[in-house]
Amino acid sequence: MKRIAVLGSSGSIGTAVLDVIRRSPDRFRVAALSVNSNTGILSAQASEFKPDMVCINDESLAASWKPGRGPRPELFRGMPGLREMVKDRRIDMVVMAISGSKALLPLLDAIDSGKEVATANKEALVIAGDLVRLRASRRKVRLIPIDSEQSAIWQCLEGQDRSKLKKIYLTASGGPFRNYSAGQLKNITVRQALDHPRWKMGRKITIDSATLMNKGLEVLEAMALFGAGADDIEVVVHPESIIHSMVEFVDGVVMAQLSVTDMRIPIQYAMSYPERLSGGLKPLDFARLKSLNFAAPDPERFPCLGLAYRAARCRGTMPAVLNAANEESVGAFLERKIDFVSIPAITGKVMARHNSRKDPTLSDIAAADAWAREEARGYIDRRKKAC
Ligand code: MG
Repeated sequence: MKRIAVLGSSGSIGTAVLDVIRRSPDRFRVAALSVNSNTGILSAQASEFKPDMVCINDESLAASWKPGRGPRPELFRGMPGLREMVKDRRIDMVVMAISGSKALLPLLDAIDSGKEVATANKEALVIAGDLVRLRASRRKVRLIPIDSEQSAIWQCLEGQDRSKLKKIYLTASGGPFRNYSAGQLKNITVRQALDHPRWKMGRKITIDSATLMNKGLEVLEAMALFGAGADDIEVVVHPESIIHSMVEFVDGVVMAQLSVTDMRIPIQYAMSYPERLSGGLKPLDFARLKSLNFAAPDPERFPCLGLAYRAARCRGTMPAVLNAANEESVGAFLERKIDFVSIPAITGKVMARHNSRKDPTLSDIAAADAWAREEARGYIDRRKKAC
């Protein structure tokens, strides 16, 4: 029985993780749950899964929280509470389903305490990929990806000689605006951008999918997970999202991983690795599928991808700046303060003003993150006034 901590249990990945656990109760048990502020969902989850521990990030909500039916779990509060909880001996595996760079510290704590880690969080790997890799290898901790593309690469590389890997093809659905002209992109509304054709996800990642920044962040994520260089990774637009990514070896052989678009498949594999479970999820139907299409991404209409490659080649603190400026810009777009095309424009301006620091420490990364947010907010305020 694997005892699982689900960090970010009320989000779309977190609830899918719990559904995987629900389907294999003989394999997994919920040891701990954490939410940011959604205490209603936490109560329902706690009554169903009876965790030993829960953590509520928003401390003002923690005091009045009612666990619902069943035994009262041990309650942790805020980021210090979360960091303490992940180290607990009652946990075998930590599933990181928190979005944003705030996942970095609890991720490092989970690694340092020798837990198995399955992560759906991109940002921590994007901003501190080298640090996370180093800590994981020092502690001999396996970092198993949940992101469907990274899981595909992981599966394609299984049992292969990594030194014979030539290239990684990251597939991208292309987002809802794949066929929009540059002029049409200027007038995109928040509602249009939140309507993703293939995946149901949180708001931030849905906007990142529409700008292709999500794919850019995945380039950086793949570098951290597989030790690949930026130029060994190529993005291929594949609108059906059936091939979740591919790897090419030195002999020209390409291995691909295919499945229906259901996040529970990579989640389940990350949790049961190296075993495969049946789980009762839907298989592919090739006769109905008929065809799979591919195209190169358009860097003119989707400049976020180019910005991510720039950060990937520069390394150091630049990925943290890319991530922070993008996060602020996406937030401002969702609050209708800036338009869709200003997301890459502002992110690019902030990056251009940054002097990247090599081999950054955690505090260098935190400083770069804070600086980039401040810079981005300056540009956002100026654009808001101009409107
Ligand atoms: Mg993905």
